[in-house]
Amino acid sequence: MVSRTIPVDTFDLVLFGATGDLATRKILPSLYRRFLAGQMPQDARVIGAARSKLDDAGFRKLVAEALDEFVSKSKRDKATIEAFLNQCSYIAIDAKGDSGWAELKKSVRDEAIKAFYFSVAPSIFGTLAEKLRSHGIACENSRLVVEKPFGTDLETAKKLNADLAASFDETQIYRIDHFLGKETVQNLMAVRFANVLFEPLWNERYIDHVQITVAETVGVGGRGSYYDKSGAMRDMVQNHLMQLLCLTAMEPPSQFDPDRLRDEKLKVIRALDPVGQKDVVRGQYKAGKEPSYVEDAENPDSRTESYVALKIGISNWRWKHVPFYLRTGKRMTKRMSEIVIQFKETSHSIFDRDEGSMANALTIRLQPDEGMDLSVTIKEPGPGGMRLVNVPLDMSFAEALGPDGEEIPDAYERLIMDVIRGNQTLFMRGDEVEAAWAWTDPIIEGWEERGDRPQAYAQGSSGPEDALMLMHRDGRRWRDLED
Ligand code: NAP
Repeated sequence: MVSRTIPVDTFDLVLFGATGDLATRKILPSLYRRFLAGQMPQDARVIGAARSKLDDAGFRKLVAEALDEFVSKSKRDKATIEAFLNQCSYIAIDAKGDSGWAELKKSVRDEAIKAFYFSVAPSIFGTLAEKLRSHGIACENSRLVVEKPFGTDLETAKKLNADLAASFDETQIYRIDHFLGKETVQNLMAVRFANVLFEPLWNERYIDHVQITVAETVGVGGRGSYYDKSGAMRDMVQNHLMQLLCLTAMEPPSQFDPDRLRDEKLKVIRALDPVGQKDVVRGQYKAGKEPSYVEDAENPDSRTESYVALKIGISNWRWKHVPFYLRTGKRMTKRMSEIVIQFKETSHSIFDRDEGSMANALTIRLQPDEGMDLSVTIKEPGPGGMRLVNVPLDMSFAEALGPDGEEIPDAYERLIMDVIRGNQTLFMRGDEVEAAWAWTDPIIEGWEERGDRPQAYAQGSSGPEDALMLMHRDGRRWRDLED
């Protein structure tokens, strides 16, 4: 298998928030790994910007420390790091002040692709965009990358969209959802649309239901007060799980083109049924080996959910009567993200059946160990007669595709290079984000009106009891997180 690294045109990437957590943990290490892979041109530049008073040497020291901590040892080559650092520089800028902008204008080259990455709090997105425009730094071919959260409800998302639209065209705005940069997520589209096997079966006639799980073992400690204003619904469902649902459920776009694909995702969001109270379960983790949710959030009265499970219907021809079950939570038994397409049983069986389902299931694993498996029913080996057994045809991408065991690139590596290439396919469009909030808002408003507490669940468990019931009452069950 040959690794294909497609070179990109030279660029100046201005990283606002360059001293922050996301920049040092993810963005700068991702840029370095692309540099190491030979994808970053020799004259491309990374210009860090934040309020901290650093000079170029101070910033390079900070970048070097970040690479030391967040890049695996096997990829840390002294000479390559040195060369990468030489392409990094820094300008102290306060988004709300006027100093630094003239220097930034001089530093970015007109002939290079200009990308502005806002790795800062969303409250200053609008100000930064306006300053870039009014100081004549941004131009028609500039690109703007913004991080989540994109709003906290429909109203705030609309305001953010309007603030950005005042200075940038929609074709210049790249709203990051790092789940979309995952190899497996893109493979979901490849599997569906490039194989004759799956698409004919991808509908209510053959699929019983779909399960989407994003389970984390970590709690919210460290960022409890931030998380407490958000909760699992805003932090995970409105963006990441919604995107996974859309890619699973959408119609085939006529071409693999950013806007056609995003049009199809938008149609799915608009076809989602409203979720009634009986179809949603909220949970909060109890004290266990680690502190409870309310202790982590430092809010004993908190009604914010660290877990949510939903049953969602999609009102269109393809998915009528096929529920999509979504769940996500903190402090669960295992860190695991996957999409399971559960097919129906054969309409008639010629074999004697033992207990248990023999239906096929296609599982797309996002983490850990990106890959997919298809469970198929075969004859159990041996002389025991025609006994059937369900076995997985398992494919780990790292094993199957990585040349010489090469690591699968981090989602951020892929997404940043897509920004430079000007490819918006894996980024959310403004109307998509607004539609997702328009669907999410009434659910959250219902909780706030009722003021009820989320159900407590044990740390290291699969979530609250009621979430199990959400499927049991339909005669189905969640995939075991221990599987
Ligand atoms: P952070 O650690 O607090 O960093 C914020 C950065 O913004 C710092 O570099 C800070 O540097 C800079 N900054 C703050 N006020 C500024 C101003 N007025 N003008 C210019 N720069 C300013 O936050 P973070 O965790 O990196 O998150 C950054 C963004 O990414 C947020 O929108 C967050 O929601 C999003 N995000 C973060 C993660 C994550 O894992 N951390 C994941 C997904 C999304 P100075 O103090 O030096 O100015």
